Amino acid sequence: MPDNFDVIVIGAGPGGYVAAIRCAQLGLNTAVIDSQVNSEGEPSLGGTCLNVGCIPSKALLDSSEQYHRLQHQFSSHGISAENATIDIAVMQQRKSAIVSSLTGGISQLFKANKVTSFHGFGQLLADKAVNVIDRDGEVTKTLSANEIILAPGSIPIEIPSIPYDHEFIVDSTGALAFGRVPARLGVIGAGVIGLELGSVWNRLGSEVVMLEALDDFLDLADHQVAREAKRHFGKQGMDIRLGAMVNRIDSGAGGLQVQYTQKDESHTLEVDRVIVAVGRKPATDGLLGEGCGVTTDDRGFIEVDDMCLTPVPGVWAVGDAVRGPMLAHKSSEEGVAVAERIAGGKAHVDFNCVPWVIYTSPEIAWVGATEKELKAQGREIRTGSFPFAATGRAKAMEEPHGFVKIVADKNTDRILGVHMVGPHVSELIGECVLAMEFQASSEDLARTIHAHPTLSEATHEAALAVDKRAIHKVN
Ligand code: FAD
Ligand code: AMP
Repeated sequence: MPDNFDVIVIGAGPGGYVAAIRCAQLGLNTAVIDSQVNSEGEPSLGGTCLNVGCIPSKALLDSSEQYHRLQHQFSSHGISAENATIDIAVMQQRKSAIVSSLTGGISQLFKANKVTSFHGFGQLLADKAVNVIDRDGEVTKTLSANEIILAPGSIPIEIPSIPYDHEFIVDSTGALAFGRVPARLGVIGAGVIGLELGSVWNRLGSEVVMLEALDDFLDLADHQVAREAKRHFGKQGMDIRLGAMVNRIDSGAGGLQVQYTQKDESHTLEVDRVIVAVGRKPATDGLLGEGCGVTTDDRGFIEVDDMCLTPVPGVWAVGDAVRGPMLAHKSSEEGVAVAERIAGGKAHVDFNCVPWVIYTSPEIAWVGATEKELKAQGREIRTGSFPFAATGRAKAMEEPHGFVKIVADKNTDRILGVHMVGPHVSELIGECVLAMEFQASSEDLARTIHAHPTLSEATHEAALAVDKRAIHKVN
């Protein structure tokens, strides 16, 4: 096998594997080095996203959602299902089968595109050389390339005073692998990952308490969306405590005692298991060898310019390990853009058009700026919103919750942000991302025919509402 390549990619998550495939499509001789292993200790491509992130979490969200509906929602359709049970082992096997079919698919794509895959830990050296290091810490190969793409992704943050024991105090990976439903579950951090994993186990029967340090719930999202979502999560039985800073966990006869402060008062929460979901940090430990020239900032993110280029010519970095949102599709778009730049193209990633989705029930999705951000910038805006309760489709689906809100520039009518909470908004947001990519106005969306009866009519009506001419509500 040759040791010299046009491009070496370190990390085969959605940033790295997508970059590698695009490089190969563009005729570049490409190698990927990845260290991820599955629960059997075998190499498994696809990174956090496919192995222990987006995909397994969505598999469990779907299983738990079906179970929850069967128990709580089917009766209104006249369907009775008494004594419903769920076999957690089968649910976990289904999840693992989905993961392995997708991770295996990446291996096949690499073969089909003639991407050379090395299993091991990649370490960048000076002069664009890279060591491949095995699990015993031995250097098994030294490769070199004209261009290098660093895509090492991220790992869960550990609270120093609360080390993971990987059984009772777990990170997101542990929370995806519980073998039985904990009776009492504490979740530290009510961000995207905490909410999704808390929802899974809540629907399966855990009594869930979420402790969030910030006073505002889902601070990044539109405040009305966050308020509506929190109301629903409360109705589902999730006890979300804000302004609750967790300091310590003690273990005693009755389980784990989570010590936290809220409004300067000390509290204790007793639970059986704790999921720590307080964010993720770049996975750069050991990646940057002596003299490689690549730098990290004070939070460990690899420093890059707007083009994802590090200070070393020919060394690029993408995905969770660089600035910007930690989202799989953002990583992939950066990966494609870098591959195309290497091949001489002029790719561009518009950070304003990166959709955000939280796969709870109801789902939450948004793209672009919030009203709060725009007002802080002094922008003059108009907004229009429309509730799913006024659409026939949501009613027929028995999911008449939430709304769509469109924020547009007051003078030009250009859409500046779209915020949704409700059924299947993870899919509905796509139309709005496209509208923003095309610099559409709210009038463009309002003049677009939307099929009836569909959930997308809420988007249409919200666009009409910007100009106070929604049909199915009083403006
Ligand atoms: P990663 O996917 O982290 O991949 C990096 C890969 O590089 C890994 O395989 C790692 O083992 C390997 N690696 C690291 N260092 C080295 C090295 N030195 N040598 C060799 N290999 C190395 N995002 C979404 O957009 N949608 C979701 O629904 C979603 N759900 C999530 C749910 C959970 C529970 C979690 C934890 C994350 C979720 N995310 C989601 C975030 C998403 O997983 C990440 O944004 C995405 O995986 C980042 O892609 P990446 O390629 O930058 O890095
Ligand atoms: P995210 O960044 O979306 O993964 O969300 C992580 C959340 O965890 C953030 O909202 C943080 O405010 C919260 N958080 C961080 N540290 C703590 C802590 N010690 N106790 C409670 N919440 C925390």
